[in-house]
Amino acid sequence: MIVRRRWTAAATTVILFSAVLSHPASGAAAPADPAAPITLSTTETAVVRVQLRDQAQLDRLVATGADLANRPRARDGRIIADLVLSGAQLDELTAQGATAVQIVQRAGDGNRHYADSVRAAQARTAAGLRVPAAGQRSTAAAVDTLQVQQAYWWTTNGQTFLQAQVATTATDDPDVEITVSWRTADGVTGSFPLYRFEDSGEYQYHYNLPQPVPSRPVQLSATSSLGGVSRAITPTLWPNASPPPLPAGYQKDFIDAYLTPVDIQARIKRLARQYRDLVDVIDLPNKTQGYRRNAAGYLGDPTVAAVVVESVRFGDQNMNGVQVRTVDPGRANRPLTVGYRDRVLTVSLATDTAGKTVSTTDEVAAAINARQPDRFRATVEDGSAGLPMPVAGPTRLDDGLQGTEVPARPWTVQALRLGVHRDGSRVGVLAYSQEHAREWATPLVTLEFAERMLANARTDPATRELLEQVDIFVIPTVNPDGANYSFNDFNFQRKNLVNHCTGAARDPKNRTSWGVDINRNYTVGSYFDGYVGASANCLSGNFAGTTELSEAESGNVIALAQAHPNIKFAMNVHSYGGYFMWPPGAYRADGRVTLPRPSIDESTLFLNSARRIVGAIAQERGTVTWPSQTGPVADVLYSAAGNSADQLYYELGIFAWDFEVGNDLWNPETNQWEGVGFQPPFDEAHGESQEYAGGLVEMVRVARDYAAAEAAAG
Ligand SMILES: [Zn+2]
Repeated sequence: MIVRRRWTAAATTVILFSAVLSHPASGAAAPADPAAPITLSTTETAVVRVQLRDQAQLDRLVATGADLANRPRARDGRIIADLVLSGAQLDELTAQGATAVQIVQRAGDGNRHYADSVRAAQARTAAGLRVPAAGQRSTAAAVDTLQVQQAYWWTTNGQTFLQAQVATTATDDPDVEITVSWRTADGVTGSFPLYRFEDSGEYQYHYNLPQPVPSRPVQLSATSSLGGVSRAITPTLWPNASPPPLPAGYQKDFIDAYLTPVDIQARIKRLARQYRDLVDVIDLPNKTQGYRRNAAGYLGDPTVAAVVVESVRFGDQNMNGVQVRTVDPGRANRPLTVGYRDRVLTVSLATDTAGKTVSTTDEVAAAINARQPDRFRATVEDGSAGLPMPVAGPTRLDDGLQGTEVPARPWTVQALRLGVHRDGSRVGVLAYSQEHAREWATPLVTLEFAERMLANARTDPATRELLEQVDIFVIPTVNPDGANYSFNDFNFQRKNLVNHCTGAARDPKNRTSWGVDINRNYTVGSYFDGYVGASANCLSGNFAGTTELSEAESGNVIALAQAHPNIKFAMNVHSYGGYFMWPPGAYRADGRVTLPRPSIDESTLFLNSARRIVGAIAQERGTVTWPSQTGPVADVLYSAAGNSADQLYYELGIFAWDFEVGNDLWNPETNQWEGVGFQPPFDEAHGESQEYAGGLVEMVRVARDYAAAEAAAG
């Protein structure tokens, strides 16, 4: 089976695998327990880990705008993908031969995990237990040659893992099977299969997920079904870097619960007040739309015939509650008229000589748009074109927003600036999070990081020294409007709240699909430049916007970086999956031509720094970011056209990384890696905040060391 595929330009290109081996192997993933069926009601939405029947199934999913939460992976010859799905969509997939492996997160879970986290925090405070911190063609050979490109091992929480990447010279033969054999220091041996990995139709290498081994592996070799044998090598310890030990009394754990944008605003304010000498709050230049939507409703019945009417202004601008109706004038030969008074839009339908109403849906929509263009927009509901318009209403227009404690006004996105010398004289570091609204753990990471730096500056000389040498910028929530919507209306909201759709796509049934993917709206390697991994479809999860930087949110990140040219390092914090990445983040579809590769020196800096930062993350609770998920975005995740790190790196010369916090967790009972989701139970999100904050502290040390080396070089 050859896997050669490319998603249409309007969809995400995803890295896929053809995996043809199925012999038993040490640590091969077991299927999900059949005794525990995974069910989802028709209308319920969830993040589901699904084993797909074949490539074609994934192709269809993507062509129809599937919301992929993670990179599809090979497992036992099948493709595993994390998808945001409704029960109806899951039933359809199942009927087509797919199998649900794990419900990663149900729609309601986020709200429950949020509420649980707040309640638990309050209970701890009330009990006096803790005071809120005051603070990749070639000719197939008969016999191939194998090269072990990577072989790493590590131990986490008592379990040792081995991960290998091996390339065959028979790149054109999709049926080459590669098996890795290993031996431990105490003589135990075993083997596991590797799977062929292609990206955008090009063979890359063979690999597998990390495999459990009984103890430290001292020898590894690979054999292929064509008779190829690799050299025997000694696997390397990963990441083999650890940060300085924490001094006694080092303060951390400033995160009690999930934080909404309102909570984040308050936290920023408190930090500024509490650490006046070390903090500036920067109001970023572009206010967002705010937690607002146009008021909308169906005039008529969408199951029969309807027109969608919406207010031109936002619902909170005195348009929620406005009524719309059609009336029968009760007389023959009347024209179609539209009138608005006392917050009621009345459409009087045209009648024939017998007094029967004769206006169509199209005529009604056109009349509203022609006569009330300043107040209302009307579109014929998809499926209702040309139908007789019924006498209907009144219908109350409403913005549909459920959040009652969110201010309905444009939002000022804020950045924290931390340091002793906040004057541009020191090397700058930027950490920013929640470009994607549903990634609730990410602001917890950046805020924990900020407060660690501030709180310890008073008591830990090493932290103080970092704040003497480095100028730190933190944007905890880049996309507060989307985040408010995620907390109050639709947990799986990824994009912002700006609706660029036109015509029938503005139907309120699409309300959870509007918005711009902020991390596809930047200027370098963008959709508009012909790169892969973003969409022009306003309803797609990867909608790139109307132009580069069309959105306030993306503009803010770039404005901050441009205003502070001392910024040399940046981290874009996302969830989930456990990745550590850097440019290039995108490629063109034809020939898989990536943005330029960093120089050898810069690639070395990226990788060495990555090992340090991965080591610091592991310090907290043993979480080791896999070597297969550490590297350039375009190589380890997928092509993400127009992402922020690429603009920061190529345009502004910033070493720009991305985290995907929330690494898969090893389940020793099932011998499987399990996904954690966007909004896990708070204990997991809390763990992520602690470990990745440690990673950000290490990034500050990387920046300090870089600046010192530059200064020494003169
Ligand atoms: Zn994200």
